Amino acid sequence: MTDPAADPWTVARHRMVANQIVSRGIQDPAVLAAMRTVPRHRFVPENERPRAYDDGPLSIGRGQTISQPYIVALMTELARVGPASRVLEIGTGCGYQTAVLAECAGDVWTIEIEPELAAAAAGTLASLGVENVHRRVSDGSLGWPEAAPFDAMLVTAAPADVPPALLDQLALGGRLVIPLGTTSQNLWVITREPEGFRRRSVIPVRFVLLRS
Ligand code: SAH
Repeated sequence: MTDPAADPWTVARHRMVANQIVSRGIQDPAVLAAMRTVPRHRFVPENERPRAYDDGPLSIGRGQTISQPYIVALMTELARVGPASRVLEIGTGCGYQTAVLAECAGDVWTIEIEPELAAAAAGTLASLGVENVHRRVSDGSLGWPEAAPFDAMLVTAAPADVPPALLDQLALGGRLVIPLGTTSQNLWVITREPEGFRRRSVIPVRFVLLRS
């Protein structure tokens, strides 16, 4: 048997978690385990692989980016995903955040508007044996009504305002983690409570814009 510690990608991934994620305060053990497990380098184009575990976003083609590892971990922690959670992701991109969610959640429904990216992500997820992901090519701002309600939602492209369909499809007690804004953006957590929606701004971020 090969020693996993000898695999340079595994070493890089463990170092990434220690230096970029634990050091910035992420504590959820399931999130940390997922970040140590999912091979981020498999989701980026060949020429970007040497930088796959760097502390920043990377280009994945078609003008889109894969989020910085810390942001992926932070959004997953804020979504409070557990083994029975039903999770909706808007903006599959390369599928890396999808794979991290799939490690932590029961089932993940993911929507991507760009067919080529969706196809590439599907191929990568299949090659890694990820099975609890349902995917669709469409405008994610409409959500996935047939699979609603969702315990958690992650949006990885920024609209100016929260798409109303997403609020409608959030379960009672559910969390929507979403970047909002165009020229300047903040990451928000919106929680559905019996009295209504509670909104909390977390940190300034920079995401590609949600298309319609
Ligand atoms: N989570 C991704 C980040 C991708 S960047 C990752 O880990 O790689 C944001 C993605 O949102 C892009 O792939 C973009 O094509 C997609 N997107 C933009 N507008 C969208 C919309 N209205 N519906 C679904 N996906 C959208």
